[in-house]
This record gives sequence, C-alpha cells and structure tokens, in this order.
Amino acid sequence: MSFIEQDKNVIAPLYGKADIEIVKGEGSYLYDSKGEKYLDFVAGIAVNALGHQNKAIKEAVARQMDCFNHISNLYVNMPQVELGRKLLEITGFDKAFFCNSGTEANEGAIKFARKYFDRKGEPNRQKIITFVNSFHGRTFAALSATGQPALRQGFGNMPGDFVHVTWNDCAALKAEVNKDTCAIMLESLAAEGGVMTLSSEMVETINSLQKEFGVLVIVDEVQAGCGRLGTFLGFEKYGLKPDLVTLAKGIGGGLPLGGVLLRQYIAGQLKAGDHGTTFGGNPIACAAGLAVVKQVSEPALLKNVVERGNQIRAALSELKKKHSFIKEIRGEGLIVGVALDESVPVGDVVASARAQKLMVLSAKGNVLRMLPCLNVSAAEVDEAMEKLSKAFMMTQGA
Ligand SMILES: *Cc1c(COP(=O)(O)O)cnc(C)c1O
Repeated sequence: MSFIEQDKNVIAPLYGKADIEIVKGEGSYLYDSKGEKYLDFVAGIAVNALGHQNKAIKEAVARQMDCFNHISNLYVNMPQVELGRKLLEITGFDKAFFCNSGTEANEGAIKFARKYFDRKGEPNRQKIITFVNSFHGRTFAALSATGQPALRQGFGNMPGDFVHVTWNDCAALKAEVNKDTCAIMLESLAAEGGVMTLSSEMVETINSLQKEFGVLVIVDEVQAGCGRLGTFLGFEKYGLKPDLVTLAKGIGGGLPLGGVLLRQYIAGQLKAGDHGTTFGGNPIACAAGLAVVKQVSEPALLKNVVERGNQIRAALSELKKKHSFIKEIRGEGLIVGVALDESVPVGDVVASARAQKLMVLSAKGNVLRMLPCLNVSAAEVDEAMEKLSKAFMMTQGA
C-alpha cells in the first residue's frame, strides 16, 4: 500500500493533502517517490526559512546531538541562552521565552499580558482586541484570538474577553479600546487572512491608543517575522512599537521552535512558576534557531528577500496584464499574495501549479499565496513565474 493510502488509514483526517510522497528536499526543491522534482514556494508554510538541508543548521543540530538532546528547563540550557542573546541583540527586546510552536507563543504572550496587569493591581484589564480573519493558532486562547468564527465552531466555550475588529478599520478599533483593555494583538502582515498589509493610519491609531490607554501591543510575527518581509521582524517595516512579540515557523528552520520577546517592564512582573513548558526551548531546536537567526539577520540575506519579492511582484504585474481574473497583487518581501476573482478558484490554481511542478498555497478570500525560502535565487524565481504562468493558462482553459 502506498503511503498516500496508509496515511488515510493511520492519520486523523484533519488535513486535505496532495497526492504525492515527498522523499527528499534540497534548497528550494522537493523530490517525490516517483523521481519528480518540485520547486517549493510553500517552504513548509514559511518554516523552511533557508530551504531544505541548510548546511549550518545541519551542523548545529549534529553538534548539539553530540552533547545532549534535552535537559528540561530545570537547568541552564546553553543553546537557549545563546539564541536568546542573539535575538535580543538584533531586536532590542529585553527578555526571551521559548516554546515549540506559534500557538504556544501566542498563548504565552496573552498570559504574560494579563499577568502584567494583574501584578500591577489592574486584574480587570483582560480584554484583548484582535482582527477579523486573523490567524493566531489552534489552542483555546489563540483560537479565541483568531478572527475566524468557523474555526471555533463545535468546540464549546472559549476563553472570554476577545473582541475582533475589521482589519485597517481605525474607527472600530478606537471604539473598542478603553482603560479596561489589556492588549491589541495583530499580525504585522495578515498572511492566512488573505495577505493583507497594514495601513499607515492603522499603525498611527495603534501607536496612539497604546500611548493614551497604556494598552499592550502584541505583534504576532509567527509567519511574517524572521526576515520574511525583508526586515528581521515584520513590524519594523510599519513602525509599530510592540510590547510583546511572538515568533515560530521560520525561526526553527524546520525544527519546532517558538518564542516570545518581552520588554523588561513585563518580564519584571513575572515570577518562577507563572508559566512554563517541558519541551520549550529544546536545545536542538535552539541550536538550529541560532543557525537560522545568524543567517537571516545578515544584510545580504534580507536584501535578497526584498529583491526576490520585487522580482516576483514585477513578474506578477506582467501576468496581471494577460489575465483579467487576477484582481490584485499583495504582500511584502517574500509573503506574496495574488487575489483572484471567483471565476478562478484558488484551489484549482494550486493544483495546476503542482501539475507544473510548482508548490504554492492559498490564503483566505480566493488568494494565491507564495512563501519561498528566503535564500531563493533569481533563477528559481524566474522558473517559478514560468510555471505559474502555465498554471494560470491551464486553470483558465479548464
Ligand atoms: C501559523 C501561525 C500561527 C500558529 O502557529 P502553529 O505553529 O501552527 O501553532 C500563529 N500565528 C500566525 C500568524 C501563523 O501564521
């Protein structure tokens, strides 16, 4: 029986999966059991920041495997300290907390924000404002924060005091924020929600509400952070001033790693036992993370992100002239979105692209999404755009 068939028998049916068996990855390419070669513009959903089999990550992991795999957070974990120090040095934050995933990073940030106000004698400041169509994860608080009611359906009561306002609707946000608000939580670029960028008015509104009401700003950099927008953290591009930042996906370069960056006034309110995790900041994941962060923070790599992003958007602008079903080209750096009209379902384009041996994915609102690895080459981008052009013609002809 093929693994595709076995998967249906063995694995809980929570995902729609492509009918291919990937056996190897190298750089921007994936190979399947039939010997087919695919250009990977999904990168494990923005996880493989440096492509497959990055040499420095492999070496860092192998080195750490020779020391220890795990010791718990009862002892000082040197790879965790080294990664934390590097992240603080690059970002200017004061403390780091490590976990294993994006949803855990967001759970942590939400808990830290509420605990901060509790310790300051304002225990009623619990309300957290997030955005319609946002995505913050699948555990209960992160799911409550996620602005997609369909994902909460059938799971019973959710943690309360989460309110969702429309993306870039400044008046709606202002109407919700008062002295009882704990935090405004947002992605620096709403990726799953349709590759939506922040307006400058919204950034100004958030910055002024933060000042006026002392509300905390939590920026979810799980997808847009770690170099993907051409700056190490996405919010730098827009001028937000977050009190807490969450990371995951790309930061582990393929290993499960998440984190929260904190300002001292928040970290200073936390005590031993307030929060914790067994695996969080696992030494192997942190060793990989350090190899990722060192490479991603290099100016040449960040420049590549900007240049390849521009190259993709220029090619897409040409395709837009040919195909009237392309409504809009969205995104920043190497989060690229192509909004399509209803005549062309994005799922069909994803399938046609795969038939052309190009991996892409979708986002909400019939949007095609591309997340190539950050060290993708100009030639690989050209190849992807040729394959996508054929996929568009195939889909339209169907
Ligand atoms: C993927 C994602 C998450 C959830 O991360 P997991 O590792 O799947 O828990 C949270 N926020 C954003 C912006 C994401 O893209």
